[in-house]
Amino acid sequence: MRCSPGSVLNLLRSGRLRSCVRRGRNRLPLWLRKIWLYARLLVQSLCFNTLTDSDVVFDSIFEPVFWTVDYVTRWFGLLFVCLVVILTCSILAIAYMVLLPLILNTYSPPWIAWHICYGHWNLVMIAFHYYKAAKTSPGHLPTEKNDRPFVSVCKKCIMPKPARTHHCGICNRCILKMDHHCPWLNNCVGHFNHRYFFSFCLFMTLGCVYCSISGRNLFLDAYNALETNFQTAAPPYTLKERMIHKSIIYMWVLTSTVAVALGALTVWHAVLISRGETSIERHVNKKEGQRLAAWGKVYRNPFNYGKLNNWKVFLGVEKRSHWVTRVLLPSGHPPHGDGLTWDILPVRKDLIPV
Ligand SMILES: [Zn+2]
Ligand SMILES: [Zn+2]
Repeated sequence: MRCSPGSVLNLLRSGRLRSCVRRGRNRLPLWLRKIWLYARLLVQSLCFNTLTDSDVVFDSIFEPVFWTVDYVTRWFGLLFVCLVVILTCSILAIAYMVLLPLILNTYSPPWIAWHICYGHWNLVMIAFHYYKAAKTSPGHLPTEKNDRPFVSVCKKCIMPKPARTHHCGICNRCILKMDHHCPWLNNCVGHFNHRYFFSFCLFMTLGCVYCSISGRNLFLDAYNALETNFQTAAPPYTLKERMIHKSIIYMWVLTSTVAVALGALTVWHAVLISRGETSIERHVNKKEGQRLAAWGKVYRNPFNYGKLNNWKVFLGVEKRSHWVTRVLLPSGHPPHGDGLTWDILPVRKDLIPV
């Protein structure tokens, strides 16, 4: 049976639904009755809602699956953070115990100075940006009433959503300029921590490339030594030497793998930032572009201020010295704007859809 919301109200007023609910009430335990009533209400709302379509039915059926995935991701977030910290610390320990002594013994003083300065600067940048990305709130909707412009209403929070805001199922709230939920940070990436997230990816990639290149010869020596020892089965090889060789191989394989995987992710995010898009907006804009292309129109992203300006806005660069103080050094400056209202480029009239 399908009818309008008005007729459902009439049914409720007439008491027909209430009498249905009352039937069999005393025979079942309270918790079972609650589940029964909820299931009935769910089925009734699906049947009586004139707006019901296959998407609503699909969402309702798979809602428990989505809850489970969200819950597991939320719980595993802490484990992922621990994993990042443990793996980074293990690489640091190997770098200090194996790489550094070798550099000090074999390299010339200028190379030693360069390695020590670069390595520590890179380490400080990784630690600072990871901490800030994980601990900084991405930005949420204000709870008090305000008359700011909004573009839609969040069905989960029942709150007006400004432009670029999206609901995160894992955090279970709306996030300003949401990019994605990052399990490695156990935090959403949004307006207030997007820069920290990107800088962390960039400096972690640079650090891994640095370890991979610096440790390449050590890796080849360690690998050959282990291979030779395995083939000849001759043991002039102490446990300490074997441990050192294995740790060098571990460091090189891990840093090279992370350099490639995280490097690809960083390049992808750099492309998005150049376009003035978030990861979510990439999909939205692509669809919008296809939709307008069918009308013979061209879609233009209203938050794209031009490549260089996009980077300046993203990094918070307002004058030349900021490229050093705000980009190459740890900086806790807030992002441009409050994440609730956005400067929108004037759109050409011939690009507006009819
Ligand atoms: Zn929401
Ligand atoms: Zn989230």
